[in-house]
Order: sequence, then C-alpha cells, then structure tokens
Amino acid sequence: MPDLRKVAKFGGTSMADIEAMRRCAAIVKTDPDKKVIVVSATAGTTNLLSDMIASGAVEEKVEIAKAIKEKHLAILGDLKKPQQLKSEIEEFLEELELIASRTQIMTQMLKDEILSFGERLSSKLFAQILREESGEYITWFDARNAIITDNNYGAAEPDIPAISEKVTKLMQPLMEKGRIVTQGFIGREPNGATTTLGRGGSDYSAALFAEAADADVLEIWTDVTAIYTTDPRIVPDARPITEISFAEASELSVFGAKVLHPATVVPAIRKNIRVYVGSSIEPEKPGTWIVKEAKGKPVIRAISLRKNQTLLTVHSLDMLHRHGYLAKLFQVLSNHKISVDLVTTSEVSVALTLDSDIHASGKQKLNDEILEELREFAEVEIETNLSLIALVGNNLDATAGLSGPVFGALENVNIRMICHGASSHNLCFLVSEEKATDVINVLHKKFIKP
Ligand code: ADP
Ligand code: ASP
Ligand code: MG
Repeated sequence: MPDLRKVAKFGGTSMADIEAMRRCAAIVKTDPDKKVIVVSATAGTTNLLSDMIASGAVEEKVEIAKAIKEKHLAILGDLKKPQQLKSEIEEFLEELELIASRTQIMTQMLKDEILSFGERLSSKLFAQILREESGEYITWFDARNAIITDNNYGAAEPDIPAISEKVTKLMQPLMEKGRIVTQGFIGREPNGATTTLGRGGSDYSAALFAEAADADVLEIWTDVTAIYTTDPRIVPDARPITEISFAEASELSVFGAKVLHPATVVPAIRKNIRVYVGSSIEPEKPGTWIVKEAKGKPVIRAISLRKNQTLLTVHSLDMLHRHGYLAKLFQVLSNHKISVDLVTTSEVSVALTLDSDIHASGKQKLNDEILEELREFAEVEIETNLSLIALVGNNLDATAGLSGPVFGALENVNIRMICHGASSHNLCFLVSEEKATDVINVLHKKFIKP
C-alpha cells in the first residue's frame, strides 16, 4: 500500500510543558506518515497575550511578557541541547518584552502580531524536541509563508488557491526530505502583515495545510480522548463517539463544541480528508473518526453548548404585510459587520442571536450606534447571559414527535427561542446561562442512549 500522508495538529494542553511535548513527539515518531505537524501555543499563552493586548498599563504588560518568558525559558532549559535554540528563543522573548514596554496604539494589526508569538515560540521548541527525540530531519516552517489570508485581523479569511500554491512550492520539497513542524492560528495578508484565524484557529490551519498538501488524514490531538456525546467537563457521563459524519461534526463545532474549530471540517469536506480526533495524553485510547458517511445515523448523536449569547428582538407594526423590512434590518447589521447566527420571525417581530464573545469569534459587538440606527424604525430589546443548546444528529427535521419529549423534559425551563427545521442536523434553543448545565444533563440522560 502506498504511503499515506497525514497532517497532525497538537493543541495547547498538548504543548503545556516539556513532558507534554515529549509525549507528542512520541506520537509523531512512531508514524512515518505524519509529514506536517501543526502546533498551538503552549497552554494558556494565547490568553496571556490577549491579556497583554487588553491591558492599558505598561507595568502589567511587562509582567505578562515576563510570565511568558519564564514559561518558555523553562522548556528551553529542559531540552537536551538547549544551546542550538537559545539565542533564537531569547531574541523572540526580548522582542515581546520590547513591544510590552512601549506605549503605542494597539491596532488590529499589532494585536495579531503579538498573538503570533505564542505559536512561533511553541513551534520552535517543539521542532527541537522532535529532533532530539527522533533523530530525524525536521524543518521548522513559518506558517505565514503559506497561510495567505485577507486583512481581516483577528478573524482572517484564508485564500485557498494562494495557500495551495505556496504549500506546493515551499512545503512539498521539504516533505520529501523529512517532517515539517509549523504553527497553527497564524497567517499573513498580501501586504506582509501577520494575521490570525480567530481563537481556536489552529485546527482550521491544520485542515488548510491538509487540503493544500493533498493529505489523506488530518489528525487533531487534544486533551480529551475523542469527540464526546457532549462536553465531558459538563456531563461526566458523556461518552466517546467512534464515528461521526462531517455534517454532524460541523454542526457540533458551530454550536460550541470547542474540541474542533467550527471551520475545520470545511477543507476536509472539500477534499474528502478523513479526520481523526484523539488524546495526546492517552493516545492508545480509541478516538473519533470524522468521515463523509458515518455507518450509524442516530437522530440525536450529541449535544452542544454555546455560551455568551445575546438575543436581539426587533419589533415593529410596520413589518406587517410590508416588503423590504427584513432587508432594511439586515442591511443595518451588515453595515456594522454584525454576524447573525439564528433568526426567528413572527408577523411583527424578528428575534436574532449574536455571539457576545467577540474575543472568541472575531465578530463585531452590538454598540449604541447600531442600536440607535435600529431604533429609528423599530423597538429593540436586548437580552444577554443566554446559552444556546443544540441537539445534533440526523433527520431531526423529519422526525415526528421529537419536540414534544424534548421540551416536555424541560417543562420548568424558560425557553427563549427555538430553531427547528432549518437544518436536518440540529434542533437548537436558547436558555438562561445559569440553567444551561442542568438542561444539558437532563437531555443527555434522556436522549443519548448508553
Ligand atoms: P486544544 O487545546 O487541544 O485545541 P481545546 O481546549 O480547544 O483543545 O478543545 C478540547 C476541549 O473541548 C475539551 O477539553 C472539552 O472540554 C471541550 N469539548 C467541548 N465539547 C466537547 C465534545 N463534544 N467532545 C469533546 N470535548 C469537548
Ligand atoms: N493558540 C490559539 C488559541 O488559543 C489557537 C489554538 O490554540 O487553536 O486560540
Ligand atoms: Mg482548540
């Protein structure tokens, strides 16, 4: 059988410290097919860098830069041959300290430049660890030379043809020689500035590399053994899923399952690349295969949770039997780059959900200016602290008698909005943040078969 080509991605917890990195190196070295290794920043580093960006005080920024420095110097000090990398890592860290110590306007461009330090540091260290542990030829590759994006800093859109061209030209020859270690999350726009793909974006980077490198398999190594029937940190009885379809996995991640960045399966679907999710801590435990067609098609496979939802209700009698009203409403939101997730309408009102967590989504937040514009033609209400719960599976739109038992099980819960029928793969609704965990536990117990 000809060799397979695999792209393997290791997340933040997998890069936590030297032991975690060595575990990942062990996973790589036993499999010659893992040609491209994509890594996240070390655990917590992107959060620290975000705190540094958010802080207005120079002393605080410098403190944060020092914390990042200590963490990375500790890993450097534990290398078998630290000398080979010492000056390079120290230079990176000095540059970061210098940025922290300056008072300057925090542009979107500078934010992405700062965020990129996490992955640039971890990948340098991991490449060296992999060299030491495997004795193989390993090239460190700057992902920004291949992941070409637009200039939408914080949530940049990849340019697929450009990425394909760069990967073929720059990475294919390196893959002939050995393995490549590169960064997730970061890219570059055509004028040369660093961009990022949004929080959790390393999964997406790995999928983009897999697509451009014509990989057969994309592996996502993380801190859980598989994709579970719901977040195992919320429901201790959650069970690992052996096989799931692209469509189901996509819906699960879009509706909040952090285990995969929502865009990850898009390149995999385009090229029909099988995706494996497994644990870098317990790699021997069975993981999840995400495939085009899964063997089983349960109506309810899994449940996901997305926190920090805002519900915007727009009400106006002008809506009744008039054309163009919805267009006007969405034009205002579009002018302000507000991305709407769910919509339900009645004759005279429209309810919309938006992600309040711009930090994670890279999206624009509702502000007074937008609300004033909307209030020129409608009454507007806003509710926050809501959670979106989605039941994900198959043929949910065509399954008779589903909503009765689902909402019957939640009779004491105020359900703020329901979306059912738009997709065959989900049924979702909003509840208050404090009820969300209970709701998921109740639904998991009732609908996910042991
Ligand atoms: P990484 O740093 O490896 O990218 P993440 O923290 O981004 O890892 O994603 C893994 C986390 O996703 C798990 O620790 C788990 O809490 C969370 N998670 C949410 N939903 C699910 C699910 N359905 N199955 C597995 N993990 C989930
Ligand atoms: N380091 C980035 C983050 O924490 C990207 C990733 O880990 O996927 O969001
Ligand atoms: Mg992640």
